[in-house]
Amino acid sequence: MEPRHAYVHVPFCRHRCGYCDFSLVAGRDDLIDRYFAALAVELERVREPLDLDTLYLGGGTPSHLGPDGLRRLFDLLHVKLRPVAGAEVSIECNPEDVTAALAEAALACGVTRASLGAQSLDAATLRALDRSHAADDVRRTVALLGERGLAVNVDLMTAAPGQSLDAVERDLDAAIAIGPQHVSVYCLTWEKGTAFEGLRRTGALAAADEGDERAMFEAAIDRLEAAGYEHEEVSNFARPGHRCRHNEAYWDCRPWEAFGPGAARFDGRTRITNHRSPVTWMNRVLTGDDVTGDVDAMDAEAAARERLVVGLRRRAGVERAAFRAASGLDLDDLAAPAITRWVVQGLATDDGATIRLTRAGLLVSDSLWADVLLPKG
Ligand code: SF4
Repeated sequence: MEPRHAYVHVPFCRHRCGYCDFSLVAGRDDLIDRYFAALAVELERVREPLDLDTLYLGGGTPSHLGPDGLRRLFDLLHVKLRPVAGAEVSIECNPEDVTAALAEAALACGVTRASLGAQSLDAATLRALDRSHAADDVRRTVALLGERGLAVNVDLMTAAPGQSLDAVERDLDAAIAIGPQHVSVYCLTWEKGTAFEGLRRTGALAAADEGDERAMFEAAIDRLEAAGYEHEEVSNFARPGHRCRHNEAYWDCRPWEAFGPGAARFDGRTRITNHRSPVTWMNRVLTGDDVTGDVDAMDAEAAARERLVVGLRRRAGVERAAFRAASGLDLDDLAAPAITRWVVQGLATDDGATIRLTRAGLLVSDSLWADVLLPKG
């Protein structure tokens, strides 16, 4: 089955935020022409143009390319990646990049949805997160995109250095007040090799304690649900009718294509990830070398176990019959002991047809997956 979903990684940012370990170069706009040349070559991997239901441009910061760069990028992509009528086309944006000209260019390129790396609307938290935009940039940008009919997602981060529960609650209220169709809430993770992790090791920065992290997550669920957002997946909240269809394709484990450094494509069984260094990826593509960084080839059981984990992250949970139809395997053969244990502990409910994590389960969900992916005995 040809994929109907595609991801394109745009690895450029103005500066690297201290917590970020994504595949990108900062302050290297001299590489943009080379990136376009490499992307054109990588797209040749697709023999016939793909009809797409969703196309997602992430990064890095696609909006860093500016209006002309965006038009150039879409001209290149449209040769092989063809969103069908009614498709969802998303781009990630940084608030400081979004101008009327950029929004107009995005619309002209067929973009329907912007995902805004806001992280916070509080000056102290933005400083603590090493972000280069101001809270007013977020407000201005959401209004500017909304006026042009683009759906908007706002990314928020919790557990930033020094951030209190009060500050998280104020951020949630401020985000709700500007009216995005979708909100994603992520807890700061301290990735190896980042500036933040180095500062944490010296004691200059401290991570929030686990109890505070959970309270922040619960505040996000309470406030966003009270404001009319549906909690669709651990980190994602959407107004009715505004779920991200690209995310849903990932969560349904449908096949997708992916291009660019660090981009991972999936055919339903095997995930192939490109080399994550932007410079190495460009050099290898342009010299005809293999750009594969990692191959995760799953057998039917491993793929089914992954499907179960991804499905349980959704509030709708996993329906036994649908799971069997999609994976060919019986959910209880894979995970009955874990599910029974979770139900007894109040971490999941099971009505015989569908298994869902409870709020208590969602709060500790990352610690549950090993029970499904690596079953004991
Ligand atoms: S803007 Fe986003 S992708 Fe770029 S460095 Fe900051 S967190 Fe990373």
